Amino acid sequence: MSKIKAIRGMNDILPEKTPVWQFLEKTVRDVLAGYGYREIRTPIVEQTDLFKRSIGEVTDIVEKEMYTFADRNDESLTLRPEGTASCVRACEEHGLLYNQVQRLWYAGPMFRYERPQKGRYRQFHQIGVETFGMSGPDIDAELILLSARLWKQLGIEDVVTLEINTLGSAESRQAFKNDLVAYLTTRKDDLDPDSQRRLTSNPLRILDSKSAQTQLILNEAPNFHDYLDAESTSHFECLKALLNSVGVNFRVNPRLVRGLDYYSKTVFEWVTEALGAQGTVCAGGRYDGLVQQLGGKSTPAVGFAMGVERLILLIESISKLPASLYQQADVYILPLTTTLEVKQKILCVAETLRDETELKVVLGCGDGSLKSHLKKADASGARVALLIGQKELEHDTVQVKFLRETIDQQEISVKDLTDSFLTKF
Ligand code: ATP
Ligand code: MG
Repeated sequence: MSKIKAIRGMNDILPEKTPVWQFLEKTVRDVLAGYGYREIRTPIVEQTDLFKRSIGEVTDIVEKEMYTFADRNDESLTLRPEGTASCVRACEEHGLLYNQVQRLWYAGPMFRYERPQKGRYRQFHQIGVETFGMSGPDIDAELILLSARLWKQLGIEDVVTLEINTLGSAESRQAFKNDLVAYLTTRKDDLDPDSQRRLTSNPLRILDSKSAQTQLILNEAPNFHDYLDAESTSHFECLKALLNSVGVNFRVNPRLVRGLDYYSKTVFEWVTEALGAQGTVCAGGRYDGLVQQLGGKSTPAVGFAMGVERLILLIESISKLPASLYQQADVYILPLTTTLEVKQKILCVAETLRDETELKVVLGCGDGSLKSHLKKADASGARVALLIGQKELEHDTVQVKFLRETIDQQEISVKDLTDSFLTKF
């Protein structure tokens, strides 16, 4: 019988990798807490219409990437492809946006039916940050600063750069879109096939086409910044001034557009050259129209989402995490004889150590030979093994065997172990 395997593009994260994930998650939690952001958790499954109405019918996600299915009641449900829509839905449903501002974050798996490759999976993880009720560029700047601090703490600040752009108001975007389509239609035959298709579905996405030929054609296209409304222009100028004053470097990329329909004004991406084609590790922007579009009161909002797998790849490729992060045990306790009394004693000593120290204590369970116990003790990363047999049981002592240093084995009392010996660890 063939063995069952995981679904393509959906990965197990094995124990040897989880320390990096935990390091990232803890760093993010701490940095976000330092800016007063609170966590929100929403279901993984939502009504399909939530995503259709927010992300937009003619986006890549809704057209071809969603995991959509009918449940037993024939209701159309979708595994969330991103977190913003769910966050807005939850906030509206529970009145969190009424007369108040919110600074929120979430983390968890997202699902998109894409072609799996390095940095692109079908189940992947995002950590997202969303703010509501603040319309000025100061909160845009806060989000960018927060992410910059995060890169520093993750040790990847030298390999990511910030790109920003403004998408203006819906009206200015529409006027630009009309002229862009008119121009590109005259050059349609020279565009790459994807861009030809987008000409009628989502023309703004053509701006970030990867085709060199299409990019050449775009050099002659109308320039969006000539269409910008006054309010968006001053918002963008102010954001740039704020970033300059706090020393955040950025590049204005006039061709930066986002894949989702709901953005307006500020958009930004943190990109890297270290991951090949999957170069965007964090992306976000302002979406002042979304809350209203989903049936709520008009509410300014801005947020971003990080791709956790891509950040992990970056961290692994450049920073050396402390070995202690990977260490399973500080102390390994094992029996020298396999009597019930010795096993009881070992359990008791281990519990005492856990009560009185912060050390990681792992037990050598089972009836293996001393050699096999010591092999496991070594693999656990522990610095010392504590050996207990009949004699130690009677004297209330343990044999301390140093696993990493050339120091003679010592017999010490259980009391000294917690009072003085292990406190020096
Ligand atoms: P891309 O252009 O790479 O497809 P996107 O515009 O679809 O990205 P967003 O919807 O903005 O991405 O998601 C935010 C971040 O989530 C991305 O910048 C990326 O880091 C990560 N991400 C998106 N799709 C995937 C995926 N399939 N696998 C892994 N990470 C992903
Ligand atoms: Mg995508």
